[in-house]
Amino acid sequence: MEIHDVVIIGTGPAGLTAAIYAARASLNPVIYAGSMHGGQLTTTTEIENFPGFEHGIMGPKLMSDMTAQAERFGTKIIYETITKIDASKRPFKLWTHDTEFQAQTVIIATGATAKTLGLPDEAKLMGRGLSTCATCDGFFYKNKIVAVTGGGDSAMEEANYLSKLASKVYLIHRRPEFRASKIMVDRVKANPKIQMMIPYAVERALSDQSGVNGLMLKNLESNKVEELKVDGLFMAIGHKPNSDIFLPWVDVDSHGYIKTTNHTATKTPGLFAAGDIGDPNFKQAITAAGMGCQAAMQAQKYLEGHS
Ligand code: NAP
Repeated sequence: MEIHDVVIIGTGPAGLTAAIYAARASLNPVIYAGSMHGGQLTTTTEIENFPGFEHGIMGPKLMSDMTAQAERFGTKIIYETITKIDASKRPFKLWTHDTEFQAQTVIIATGATAKTLGLPDEAKLMGRGLSTCATCDGFFYKNKIVAVTGGGDSAMEEANYLSKLASKVYLIHRRPEFRASKIMVDRVKANPKIQMMIPYAVERALSDQSGVNGLMLKNLESNKVEELKVDGLFMAIGHKPNSDIFLPWVDVDSHGYIKTTNHTATKTPGLFAAGDIGDPNFKQAITAAGMGCQAAMQAQKYLEGHS
């Protein structure tokens, strides 16, 4: 059975940066893309704060360029999902659905998945009026009325994006303070197509055969329940780190983010974590890329000492 020097799990900015560095160090990295090649940035629009792009760059374009750069140095990309890992001893064993293989070091860069509200009938209505991705689904709401819920940068970004397509956007948030940066909130406030609904919580989605046609909202000051006519609801309320399959081999915090020491080292020697999976604080493309670089260099050093 082939034993890889470095296996990277996840193809967001952390995983792909790790791949670029590991490939350039002649470690022949293999990177598993999972179900979402390119990670969360493939569901975003313009990225204005990634250094080097004076006028911004579209998220999917940035990720396809990073992929091409990793491949140019010999990274092998496999479009499968790792389902299990045994890191009890080296080489580590890993499994996709039907294949087992081994790795001397593993870099976990699995990022995080969008959270949802857990509304009644939510699963049934996903894709039929409920969504967690404006870039993916916004197109279906041209000249329609939509709502976005959340008070972070994601919610602001989605509201602004949707305002270019929809006839009206409601931004529903549960408290007057925002987690989003001031510049993003100011942009939403200045947008004539966006109406803020604060402090409100979404209680349930109303629907007919064709999907969502309204929301029941609770005014959190008066406790009154009100109906709001919308054609869709975009949930932008944060993300859950994808750490479940690594739990025996890593420590996680109360939200599931992998705890690291000495930059990207987990509690299992040879197992590293980079990007949003190990970062409850910053969660930026540029910080994820930086962590990917660190993980690859730490994996290289580890291999030199444990060959
Ligand atoms: P976030 O900052 O964690 O914000 C999540 C928001 O959802 C909060 O306002 C929270 O409300 C609300 N929320 C959570 N659970 C809820 C529930 N059950 N019901 C109603 N509301 C709920 O998440 P994010 O906006 O996805 O951003 C994550 C990170 O990515 C941040 O560091 C952000 O800066 C970054 N980001 C950056 C950009 C950019 O720079 N272009 C774009 C997107 C994201 P409370 O505030 O009341 O808890």
